[in-house]
Amino acid sequence: MSQDSAYTDGDLRNTGMRLKHDREWDYELERIVDAIDDRDATTVGLQFPEGLKRRGPSVADDLRKLADDGVTFMLSGQPCYGACDLDTYLMKRTDVFVHFGHSPMKNTDKVIYVPLFSNVDVLPIMEEALETLEDPSETKDVGLVTTAQHMNRYDAMTEFLEERGYEVHSRRGDERLTHEGQVLGCNYASADVPADQVLYVGGGKFHPLGLAMEHPDKHVVIADPVNNVVTPADTDKFMKQRYGAVHRAMDAKKWGVIFCTKIGQGRWEQAQDIIADNDDAYLITMDEVTPDRLRNFDMDAFVNTGCPRITTDDGPQFHKPMLTPGEYEIAVGNEPLENLSFDTFHGTW
Ligand code: SF4
Repeated sequence: MSQDSAYTDGDLRNTGMRLKHDREWDYELERIVDAIDDRDATTVGLQFPEGLKRRGPSVADDLRKLADDGVTFMLSGQPCYGACDLDTYLMKRTDVFVHFGHSPMKNTDKVIYVPLFSNVDVLPIMEEALETLEDPSETKDVGLVTTAQHMNRYDAMTEFLEERGYEVHSRRGDERLTHEGQVLGCNYASADVPADQVLYVGGGKFHPLGLAMEHPDKHVVIADPVNNVVTPADTDKFMKQRYGAVHRAMDAKKWGVIFCTKIGQGRWEQAQDIIADNDDAYLITMDEVTPDRLRNFDMDAFVNTGCPRITTDDGPQFHKPMLTPGEYEIAVGNEPLENLSFDTFHGTW
């Protein structure tokens, strides 16, 4: 993906996952060692998201000290941006596979998920957010959503709002999500609640942007405890970028249709439907979708059926327009421009 200097507003690496400030994370080493003992494991794979890879060797050192001498720890070097993105090669070759930084997208005994809950106190920024939320005397219903990193504080957040007179609505959106109230960069179904306002507590702007686009009827307030700011979600800039990409792709003749081979990012039927309908569309399979890897394909535009965030965060860095499947339908004239919406991803594998 992109370099540091080119990170866009909604980039995952601008959220709590990137250690701008050195913060403490709970690596749950004892839980991992218990699992190693329980399974008599001799090989253990460790997978970290990009922002925490630099911690990998020291976590492996700490585990070595705690585990029996015969246990070998191995680090995954594959890029990793979500629970959808397991290093299946290393997973198949180790007795225990530990995935740090995300909560389970699919429960399996083979993988130990260590979500790395943030220790940032969320209540001060929620106090500030009260000024931007409707007063409970006028609108008492509020939806509450957050990311996996702050899920350990979800009950405290709910209690905080209830004590101030709000009725908090929450749900577990669908099977792609682990928790009630959780959102992902590709899934905001937990905000489908009977409330006209939604409070998002978490780092970064991408999640609440997707949330606001997916739920244009709701007032979305961002309480960001990582950067210590409260802002209403504003989709205008983002929408302009997406309209621009669609317009640039409208004259495209040859389309590259990207099917992502990462375990939780594949939308095979969607990719197949596109190539079945368009003789000038070519299916391209790949794991990591980067500008460099696509540069040598002689295409006029691309449509990405993998992670929607690659399209929206890194889209401007590709040499040709990169669209979501919904945007593709608009660009080729199958749907009207006003149907432009956020690309969301449901289900697992
Ligand atoms: S597909 Fe969803 S869960 Fe996976 S990296 Fe993209 S936004 Fe995150």
